[in-house]
Amino acid sequence: MNDYLKLEGIRKRFGDAQVLNGVDLSVAEGELVTLLGPSGCGKSTLLRCIAGLAELDGGSIVLERRELTSLPPRSRDVGMVFQSYALFPNLTVSQNVEYGMRMRGMAPAARRSRCRELLAMVDLEEKRDMYPQSLSGGQQQRVALARSLAVQPKLLLLDEPLSALDAKIRKNLRAEIRQIQRRLGMTTLFVTHDQEEALILSDRICIMNQGRIVQEGSPEQLYTAPRTEFAARFMGSYN
Ligand code: ADP
Ligand code: MG
Repeated sequence: MNDYLKLEGIRKRFGDAQVLNGVDLSVAEGELVTLLGPSGCGKSTLLRCIAGLAELDGGSIVLERRELTSLPPRSRDVGMVFQSYALFPNLTVSQNVEYGMRMRGMAPAARRSRCRELLAMVDLEEKRDMYPQSLSGGQQQRVALARSLAVQPKLLLLDEPLSALDAKIRKNLRAEIRQIQRRLGMTTLFVTHDQEEALILSDRICIMNQGRIVQEGSPEQLYTAPRTEFAARFMGSYN
């Protein structure tokens, strides 16, 4: 497999708690890999380390042959969507989407045209002048997705982007995310604690527990041949 993203020996502690305990992971270009694990196992911390929002204690992160660990977040070419929408409340939808492009000094006309494209992709063109608070949760997550893709990241990090949504909206957005990811060929790390979501969305699943990846494989492999009781229970293939 080509290693478009390669994590080696990622370690992170908070005080006495060793939260990431030597994470190794390779992701191929265009692949959607899910990190699946119980609450508190270190999924968000791992994504935050990759995005540069938290500092590593050890290990390396290489994205398209570039070592990221000493780069500031803005230079990493990584987009991130969080569980809670995290849009700027005082900016309109289009201003939110254009924010990162403006920070990078993109010309206004190019920004506007790219923004239109992205809002069309998430089917929110008619909401462009609205403020986040007047949108539904699902719509806000679609804006967040458009915003994270605006600067054409090399890697997309999705941290439980569907968890706060109602069941029906969650299913729609799940399908939409997969479609967009495929169409763009966007290399994606998707975090969830929901087995069904992982089974449906992923090219590959990594099961995490206590700061480590304990098993990885295709959805079929993990569902039918879990290697540990933990993995079996967690995949729902063991009762
Ligand atoms: P997950 O996303 O898998 O639920 P997290 O990465 O959020 O897990 O958290 C893993 C562990 O690290 C938890 O025990 C959490 O309390 C702890 N933790 C996360 N962030 C911090 C922080 N900034 N300071 C101290 N402890 C933290
Ligand atoms: Mg989390």
